Amino acid sequence: MKAKTVETFASIQGEGKYAGIKQVFVRFFECNMHCVWCDTPHSIGDTTQKFDQWSIEELFYQIETLWKDCHSVSLTGGEPLMQVDVIKELLKKMRSVKMLSYLETNGTLPEALDKIIDEVDVIAMDLKLPSSTQCQSYWQEHEEFIKIAKKKDLFIKTVISSDTKQEDVEKSIEIVTKIDPNILFILQPNFFDMQNGVVKKCQEFHKLCVEQLADVRIIPQMHKMMKLR
Ligand code: SF4
Repeated sequence: MKAKTVETFASIQGEGKYAGIKQVFVRFFECNMHCVWCDTPHSIGDTTQKFDQWSIEELFYQIETLWKDCHSVSLTGGEPLMQVDVIKELLKKMRSVKMLSYLETNGTLPEALDKIIDEVDVIAMDLKLPSSTQCQSYWQEHEEFIKIAKKKDLFIKTVISSDTKQEDVEKSIEIVTKIDPNILFILQPNFFDMQNGVVKKCQEFHKLCVEQLADVRIIPQMHKMMKLR
């Protein structure tokens, strides 16, 4: 079994609940989505097929060499759950030496999540709004995903762009409220739209969200502001 990765490096987490911590990032190759504003297009796999292949031992060795002073290992992409068998083995190895794991996922592959839920620690799930991504909707998949993920340290973030429609935000609120209104819900202004009134839009959506959700925050992508990887 080989892992397909694009890069492995140490940096500061720039998004969500754990923004500011130092992590090892493993960027897995390929994604099942094609979000219009994807900031890692090299990892999607539709235009370039550039990746490295590693055994689990080799990949784990790379992580260990970068691990000093890190809080956790971010399994990111692309969509890491597309390589769920690899992830499962890697998570077991990490767990055996008490390395915390942090899964960054688009939240569309609930069956894959179910296979690794016992091994993973933190789940940073993107809730993909079709008006933002310009992709199909994944409401059913997201609902099933959240039901499984909430057993762990889960937070949800959703990118708000200048194209985001209110009805998509309302649908997200409905899904999360139905499962657990206490799950942290983050509105993330699209970095490329920061000059296009997207922060104001987040403030308006925040008012809607707090009517039903207990913990709603607006958090931009800090690593981009700090010009970090
Ligand atoms: S899910 Fe993430 S990696 Fe995949 S296309 Fe969307 S932004 Fe890019």
